Amino acid sequence: MLNAADTARRAIPSVDRLLRLERVAALIARYGKPLVVETVRAALDDHRAALQSRATIPFDEQAFVDACESRLAAQIRPALQPVFNLTGTVLHTNLGRALLPREAAEAVVQAMTRACNLEFDLGGGARGDRDTHVGRWLTRLVGAEAATVVNNNAAAVYLTLNTLAQKKEVVVSRGELIEIGGAFRMPDIMARAGCRLREVGTTNRTHLDDYAQALGPRTAAIMKVHTSNYAVQGFTAAVDETELAALAARHGLPFIVDLGSGMLVDLERYGLPHEPTPREALAHGADVVTFSGDKLLGGPQAGLIVGKAALIRKIKKNPLKRALRVGKMTIAALDAVLRLYADPERLGGRLPTLKWLARPLSDIEAQAGRVMPAVAHALCAKAEVAITRCMSQIGSGSLPVDLLPSAGIAVTGGGRRASSFPEKIAAAFRALPVPVIGRIKESTFILDLRCLDDETGFVAQLDKLRL
Ligand SMILES: *Cc1c(COP(=O)(O)O)cnc(C)c1O
Repeated sequence: MLNAADTARRAIPSVDRLLRLERVAALIARYGKPLVVETVRAALDDHRAALQSRATIPFDEQAFVDACESRLAAQIRPALQPVFNLTGTVLHTNLGRALLPREAAEAVVQAMTRACNLEFDLGGGARGDRDTHVGRWLTRLVGAEAATVVNNNAAAVYLTLNTLAQKKEVVVSRGELIEIGGAFRMPDIMARAGCRLREVGTTNRTHLDDYAQALGPRTAAIMKVHTSNYAVQGFTAAVDETELAALAARHGLPFIVDLGSGMLVDLERYGLPHEPTPREALAHGADVVTFSGDKLLGGPQAGLIVGKAALIRKIKKNPLKRALRVGKMTIAALDAVLRLYADPERLGGRLPTLKWLARPLSDIEAQAGRVMPAVAHALCAKAEVAITRCMSQIGSGSLPVDLLPSAGIAVTGGGRRASSFPEKIAAAFRALPVPVIGRIKESTFILDLRCLDDETGFVAQLDKLRL
């Protein structure tokens, strides 16, 4: 006698039989055999596991193939999915930081799909230097003698310190021992670069004399780190770059400035708060300046090192440069972005980062008015929806205290809901075909519309919102 469980188990077809089904054969044609076989096996395992708890589930061939189909579709989906960044943080490290202009994307495609003069001198027909491509623009835009490019600013700082100060001391103010996003901590980078950190001053006040007294035979450099993700306020004192540069020069030491963001043009020109530029740091006497490519500059992930030719030459000769160098995709994108800087008049309209940062409040408010009814309709009567004023951040450690007035949509449970309601709303928006990422402030879910580019696409998918 067979019991119900045995009967149900026997009704399960073999993998071979399933693979011969017309619909499964179509899946093999589309996804390739190994992935389909793996998926069919996994789905069968799940069905058997389900039988353990409920012996009477019948095997439904159509439903089984449907399940395999959606598993395969999910598996084959590209790893990096587009999302709507409505967090209010323009340069969001977890959402990919700067969005590049189309010119950069096209340059990358070209560099990837065709052979190019990456390290080839087309004039002399000999081996070239990959740094020359962006070097020619960088030096001109920041007024530096020379430039080189590595994987990111963390690598730029690391390589600079390792080259100029290995086994020696680097003098830094206690007010500037930064941590950026967990893993990048100045004292740790120093240690890994093989240098000894010589801290001077206090958290809130450091004077020129503190630096002067720390200098000795073991000193290799004086360093200033831009406190890009926090501000020390109140009873404070810091030594400006000009004085530090002069002190370093008197002792024959290089003066290094880690700027972090390092915008190439004056942001005030676009109605934004001032952010120190590499040009200013160099004009103040810095010998080497490091900054990121994908923060305010609005380019690809990269670390830019600019400064005195002799020091850049040394940095480039460090064998670690090879380990930290950038690929042709980065060079193509960076070159395309730097070329846009040649015309500051049009930069605001061409560089996405600048466009989003300088976007007029009236424009964002008008957009909020347009999309608000669709959001309210999608949430039916399940939540209260209102247009709200909010504050955007630049992000990625730029201008930590300067917030930009913005507008968006606020969703609340209207007092009747559990405290987990905002999380539920956030999860529902993340589950949309193009996930929408907002932020939760107290008990409100906020969609800051500053960076909403594809308004039509955003509205069109709202009917799929499931709460
Ligand atoms: C962001 C930042 C870094 C790290 O730059 P990445 O490009 O993220 O590697 C280092 N120093 C400062 C001051 C920064 O702001």
